[in-house]
Amino acid sequence: MKTAFLIIGLIIGSNTFAQQTYLDSLIMSKKTKHIEGIIPVYVTPGYEAKAISWQSTITEAKNYYESKYKGISIKAKLAVLDSANWTNEIVGYGYTYARDGWIVLPADVDFNDYVRIYGFSSFKNILEKECDKIGLDPNELPGSMFQFVTVHELGHIFVNQLIKEGIPGEFFNETVANIIAWEFFKKNKPEVMKGFELSMNVFFKNYTNPKYKTLTELSENYGKMDMENYCWYQFNFLKLVEEIYAVKDVDLLLCFKKLSQENNLKNMNVVEIGSLLDKYYNGIFSRWLSKYN
Ligand SMILES: [Zn+2]
Repeated sequence: MKTAFLIIGLIIGSNTFAQQTYLDSLIMSKKTKHIEGIIPVYVTPGYEAKAISWQSTITEAKNYYESKYKGISIKAKLAVLDSANWTNEIVGYGYTYARDGWIVLPADVDFNDYVRIYGFSSFKNILEKECDKIGLDPNELPGSMFQFVTVHELGHIFVNQLIKEGIPGEFFNETVANIIAWEFFKKNKPEVMKGFELSMNVFFKNYTNPKYKTLTELSENYGKMDMENYCWYQFNFLKLVEEIYAVKDVDLLLCFKKLSQENNLKNMNVVEIGSLLDKYYNGIFSRWLSKYN
């Protein structure tokens, strides 16, 4: 998560791939190895195995969503860069993102880095204890999270094709990207969710004092706040996603598509859009949104 805040409004249809963007040149200026595929990969040498595994997950998710929603053709490229080659010009190390058709992830985050960067430091022992309870090696946690994040970022790219007008605001963009990843892993790779949900639940219960808590503060500090505060938002949004996903036979993306055809969402605020969604989701959205006033 800590995610694709840069995506919004930056994905410009098929032309994205026709011209070289600033990010294309920036990534090409780094020392990387190119791995061909439906999702081309540029990776810091030494991290090929990890990059290939993410490439395969993204390709699988692309196939899953292209067959689920007709008329969609998702294009993306993956960059996996270590801290020495990171795109600090865009955002600090650890902030994963999607921009200009690229999905960009860090190559060398181990368990200790994970704890430090993403806000688990003051309850690392609880995280380890919870892993122990279900026989999970804590060293697998970063892998689970980044697997999830690969599809979250792909979700940012893909939703701009499905809903031409785009989705307004960070809250809904992040929620939609999270539901795209959530559904994909629940249905296709549930083993990844074990470590990811454990991280989410431990964080949700134990990280209780974020500097920023409202959606206005999120907008004002997007991409600039401490990563752990950004994780607080993402893990909160994911608890909402857990509830949304439990509502059977309602597809959030199709709801958005319908709402965007019937309303001018860009002129509506988050609470107004939330109340439209409540009709399909038994009031879940308004209940969660009241937390971020
Ligand atoms: Zn995101």
